Amino acid sequence: MIVKFKKFIKINKYDVIVIGGGAAGMAAAVNAASEKMKVAVLEAKPQPGGGARESWAIENVIGFPKGVTGVEFYKTITDQAAKFDVHIQTNCAVKKIETIGNHKFITAENGEKFMAPTVIVATGLEPKPLPVIEKFLEKFIDKGVYYGMPPEVIKTKTSRLRANEGNVALIGAGNSSGQAALKLASIKGITVNMVVRGVLDTVMSHYLVAQIRSHKHIKIFEKSNIVDVKGKDDWCSAIKLDNGTEIPVNAVFSYAGAVPEAAEWLKASGINLDEQGFVKTGKEVNSELKLETSVHGVFCAGDIRSGSDKRIQVAAGEGSSAISNIHAYMGNHPEIKSYYTPKQIQLKSNPCKYAWQKAADGSICGDRASLSPQTSKDFMLSLPDD
Ligand SMILES: Cc1cc2nc3c(=O)[nH]c(=O)nc-3n(C[C@H](O)[C@H](O)[C@H](O)COP(=O)(O)OP(=O)(O)OC[C@H]3O[C@@H](n4cnc5c(N)ncnc54)[C@H](O)[C@@H]3O)c2cc1C
Repeated sequence: MIVKFKKFIKINKYDVIVIGGGAAGMAAAVNAASEKMKVAVLEAKPQPGGGARESWAIENVIGFPKGVTGVEFYKTITDQAAKFDVHIQTNCAVKKIETIGNHKFITAENGEKFMAPTVIVATGLEPKPLPVIEKFLEKFIDKGVYYGMPPEVIKTKTSRLRANEGNVALIGAGNSSGQAALKLASIKGITVNMVVRGVLDTVMSHYLVAQIRSHKHIKIFEKSNIVDVKGKDDWCSAIKLDNGTEIPVNAVFSYAGAVPEAAEWLKASGINLDEQGFVKTGKEVNSELKLETSVHGVFCAGDIRSGSDKRIQVAAGEGSSAISNIHAYMGNHPEIKSYYTPKQIQLKSNPCKYAWQKAADGSICGDRASLSPQTSKDFMLSLPDD
């Protein structure tokens, strides 16, 4: 098939394009690249890591017995991705997927184009906008009111959080809110007022509930909602609960759940969603491949997938499974050729008799003389991309 474009544009070609650099997307990319696929991760934010990047203590991921912060966790993952030559493009928010023949064409908000026979949607969730924040707190967003607890705020605004009695408010009863409460309460001079719509034990893991209930710098207001917020000098200064209690606070952190924000552009790209905006896959869209969406060749993994468990390791597992689904898909489409070319071929210094001979194990060998000025025992030959 001949594809005509109105003007010449550069299109970056891959075997797999992963949209979203959270746990699902990064696991998919590492698995694809380790199996000799040319893979790119397109990430809307300035760095990969998704929701869990803001976690202060991930304790349930296997391999980290002492727990790990989200920032440290994603450092290990991006190092691993770099090892396998995964291309990670940050500040690249995807807004459209189109199908032409056997290929998907992806357009980012900044106009960049990408092309691949297969795509994995791993766009995760966004913090749920709270009506009280929309109504009363909007003007204080980033001025004492935050969705989540950005690490930069803790670093740069600590003295402001400690002001007066050092009271801060925290909305939500999930594990992420529990981790944030413990982190905040560990900062000298800060008292956390947790506002919980129901009771703490309903959603939060037991190990967190126990620590929170016994913490002397955490107060819990269960079956409570914030109904008003006051502020002065362009910074929030107090919250009012529905039982009339007023608490002076220096900041409000909201962990009130998450929603699939990517719903609109996914729908416009022909991907079927459930009523809440999560992506339907497998049997729900009559595909034999468990993670395939309603668009042939487009797969989905992680929190954005309908029916998925919202956990880091589940997301990473689904990302890896998506690559098995892609192998099956490619098996049904032998006409699709791979774009993978090893960028660097390791040259061994001595096993071959002649320069540029192919060794029995498939590696290319060269004698040292033909590769001056390299002097190391093993050396690398860079090949041009494409
Ligand atoms: C603060 C916090 C703490 C948590 N702690 C734990 C924990 O301790 N243990 C646990 O198991 N789970 C925890 N979770 C839940 C866990 O983070 C998620 O289940 C997991 O991250 C889901 O991974 P994901 O890859 O599906 O989505 P995400 O991690 O949300 O990643 C999605 C990525 O896609 C990007 N994206 C979105 N739209 C686009 C677009 N249009 N173009 C390009 N990129 C896009 C986003 O910027 C994001 O980086 C926590 C969540 C939060 C918020």
